Amino acid sequence: LRRWKKVVAVLEDLEEDCSTSVGRLRQVVDAMAVEMHAGLASEGGSKLKMLLTFVDKLPNGSEKGTYYALDLGGTNFRVLRVELGGDSSAIRKYDVDQQPIPQHLMTSTSEDLFDFIASSLKQFVEKQEVSELPEVKSRELGFTFSFPVKQMSVSSGILIRWTKGFAIGDTVGRDVSECLQQAMSKRGLDMRVAALVNDTVGTLALGHYHDEDTVAAVIIGTGTNACYLERADAIIKCQGLLTTSGFMVVNMEWGNFWSSHLPRTLYDIDLDADSPNPNDQGFEKMISGMYLGDIVRRVILRMSQESDIFGHVSSRLSVPFILGTPKMAVMQEDESPDLREVARILNDVLEIPDVPLKVRKLIVKVCNVVTRRAARLAAAGIVGILKKIGRDGSGSITSGRIKVGSHSEIRRTVVAIEGGLYTKNSMFREYLNEAMTEILGEDISSHVILKVTEDGSGIGAALLAASHRFVG
Ligand code: ADP
Repeated sequence: LRRWKKVVAVLEDLEEDCSTSVGRLRQVVDAMAVEMHAGLASEGGSKLKMLLTFVDKLPNGSEKGTYYALDLGGTNFRVLRVELGGDSSAIRKYDVDQQPIPQHLMTSTSEDLFDFIASSLKQFVEKQEVSELPEVKSRELGFTFSFPVKQMSVSSGILIRWTKGFAIGDTVGRDVSECLQQAMSKRGLDMRVAALVNDTVGTLALGHYHDEDTVAAVIIGTGTNACYLERADAIIKCQGLLTTSGFMVVNMEWGNFWSSHLPRTLYDIDLDADSPNPNDQGFEKMISGMYLGDIVRRVILRMSQESDIFGHVSSRLSVPFILGTPKMAVMQEDESPDLREVARILNDVLEIPDVPLKVRKLIVKVCNVVTRRAARLAAAGIVGILKKIGRDGSGSITSGRIKVGSHSEIRRTVVAIEGGLYTKNSMFREYLNEAMTEILGEDISSHVILKVTEDGSGIGAALLAASHRFVG
């Protein structure tokens, strides 16, 4: 009985430390809005980088013609071609070619990498164009490059550092559009990088293409990030910014958000300390798919150390990232009466056999606490953005409202959203949606729509090439 009490105590402590009452979430909302202000006020003014994208017009469905896109941001590299119909957001044709980046190119030279990209693009273009007249050949390209970039214009930017396993020293500090442009001319491929963008910006573009009330985009997958449409005059760190619309998309890099109001546990502190980037990406480490499974592993390890309820401590429990977030989700969603899936995963992945049913129930609760906290914090982050742009229903009586005849109505607000954690995990999705309503109240939240888009990083980049094409 004593050992049972000890495991229960681990769960109870976790529940308490992960508490996300509405009051707590509102503090996170406020902190997010405050940090956004600070990041816009000065370079380095906040852990939120609030990067300028120079994207000052978003596609609206009227774009016409054929555009290409490149998507480089992880293990796979993709080339796309999109034919736009020119009315009511019609994507007429969509072709895509995907291939893994050869391992050796990830640590080779800049020239090798961009030669590979340019030649893949050339092959793809030639395959597509055989049936076309030369005069309709498309020359405009959107380039999604999901690494930290200091943007200089909508179509150029300097690589700050590589991430995700890439390590090519001679690219850092160079304009990646220029690198691609050179590789393309070397191969006689006459194309122009019209837009260099981050994947969240592509998601916002795709959302806006289908629905012009879209003002922000969020990705919650392996990692997490968000961007939104900001008034140019609110971007104080860049005085006299010239835009055609008076607006600019700001890439928040919100994974790095931090606030003392975030409900942090000992497990988060250990996970951060063991990570290759301690003190960085604090928000991401609490909410994204890369980490949730590992937080749960750490809790089970603690239970196992505190009590001999699992028998001896399995050595597997000490292996970082051995329990992936999708596996964790399977345990959480196990509806079989004897929690068969939970038993299977505990046995197969963590090598803990014969776990009694009541302990399996406890493990499900652990998964639930960690997932729920993540989803609710993500919701608070989204509301923080809405607050910053006056769409959360707080502030002055007119904010977030439009005049209709003699009275005013709450404005419709759409947030485009992508990423496996949100789209593939229904519990995460429900917790997030529920928290949005709790924070905003029924009235306002019924006017805030979270809309799943698909392949913003690909199609969105092509759409941005269309809206920023060269008009000469
Ligand atoms: P990425 O973010 O890597 O570009 P995705 O948006 O598809 O790609 O997200 C994949 C991530 O989403 C996985 O790493 C995993 O953490 C998470 N994920 C995928 N499916 C599920 C699921 N069913 N439950 C929980 N998390 C999931």
